[in-house]
Amino acid sequence: MAAACAAAALAVLLFALLPGRAALKETDTRLAKAGEGLTDYTVTLRLDDREDTLAISETVLYRNDTGAPLSTLMVRTWLNAFRRSESSPAALEELYDACYPEGFSPGSLTIYDVLWNGERAAYAYVNEDQTALEIQIPVLESGGQGEMALRCVAQIPVCCYRTGKAGRDYQLGNVLPLLSLYQDGAWRTDAYSAVGDPFLSACANFHVTLYAPDGYVPACSAPLTKGEDGAWRGEMTAARDFCLCLSPDYAMASARAGETAVYSYAKTAQGAKRALDYAKKALETCAGLYGAYPYPAFTVCEAFFPFSGMEYPGLCMIGTDNYREDKADTLELVAAHETAHQWFYALVGSDQVLQPWQDEALCEYAVLRYVRMRYGQGSYETLKYYRVDAPMREKLPGGLTPGSPIDYFGTLSDYRTVAYGRGAALLLALDELLPGGTDGFLKAYVDEFAFRFATRADFESCLNRYAGMDCTPLVLDYLDTIMD
Ligand SMILES: [Zn+2]
Repeated sequence: MAAACAAAALAVLLFALLPGRAALKETDTRLAKAGEGLTDYTVTLRLDDREDTLAISETVLYRNDTGAPLSTLMVRTWLNAFRRSESSPAALEELYDACYPEGFSPGSLTIYDVLWNGERAAYAYVNEDQTALEIQIPVLESGGQGEMALRCVAQIPVCCYRTGKAGRDYQLGNVLPLLSLYQDGAWRTDAYSAVGDPFLSACANFHVTLYAPDGYVPACSAPLTKGEDGAWRGEMTAARDFCLCLSPDYAMASARAGETAVYSYAKTAQGAKRALDYAKKALETCAGLYGAYPYPAFTVCEAFFPFSGMEYPGLCMIGTDNYREDKADTLELVAAHETAHQWFYALVGSDQVLQPWQDEALCEYAVLRYVRMRYGQGSYETLKYYRVDAPMREKLPGGLTPGSPIDYFGTLSDYRTVAYGRGAALLLALDELLPGGTDGFLKAYVDEFAFRFATRADFESCLNRYAGMDCTPLVLDYLDTIMD
């Protein structure tokens, strides 16, 4: 307990000592502009570590920018997928034992109140898994604005996953109820697939207050600072999610990468320092290639799950296995992939359900670029063999292409081979073709769609404009053609 308290005090001290907001002018201005008119979430969280619950009180200032009148809102309540093993994404056969070492443990999100402009609003789940909550509101004209207030309690499952309690740590990915994406005249209500990351949301502004038991330190999408009243508070502007992990025994290391404060939380000081160095290098490399990192801070934290990593705006979880002494290379590659997601997912949103290659393949390409820049052509060729050439040759169940939606993939390894590896082959082919290479195009793509959502059609039209020719046949060839 003493060590944990010391860690909390150290975190507060380091936040205070790091060159702070005065040095962040350029980022602040860009973010403030990006945050204008976005949905605003004011969230108060209370963690109870005896009951493993997180009480959530959320006030959402929502402006209807859909271009159509709305009579419903759709809130994603992903945690409810963990109620039953039949619907839990962590209960996939190849994950179950690693995610539930002590047996199945249910998680849920219980809604107590939903108000719209101060009046009680009717609500109901629209799917069996209870991950899509439809809220009835009086017609809200396009451009109109209103306030939704929501009170709920999250029961955190004991589960080594991006959502769950692992040991004494809480990994709280996708726990906050967020508005879904409104697209083509309807709210998206995609299922919580075990393969991929089926989360779609627009950028919003977050104001977060967290009450946690003494000794717990949060690693967050935006750094939280502890006030004299014991509450942790922080803000995040123009981000499509807000994630936090809490541990009573994090070691923390921090550094600066240009204007960005980089934080690393891990179980050992050495692990925190190693991940920090890799995250910093990756952030600097991606910023050099694809444009400035958008947020004032970037955090990586060690997570207990059977994945290499998981991305959220401003925060990446990195699987604990990568922190082993003999896995330094893996840790660096995972840090590079997850950091690249800050551009391809966090800054430019894309359809992670129907076109998952659009962030995963771009991040794989970014890892290859990182290795070529840092370690030269030989290392790049070796990595390219394992990450792209071998996946292109692998024999797989018929019908899978990089352009397949996530629900086509039955296993994580097929998904990785096809959406990541074969998807990255498109970017390598474009590198041969484009003036300025794929990097030049991806920078133009980020410039055009920063803080927005780019459909596959947006990606292709941006590509065609950048190339000055029709690249669609090449894209079709790589993304939609079934290999024998
Ligand atoms: Zn990824």
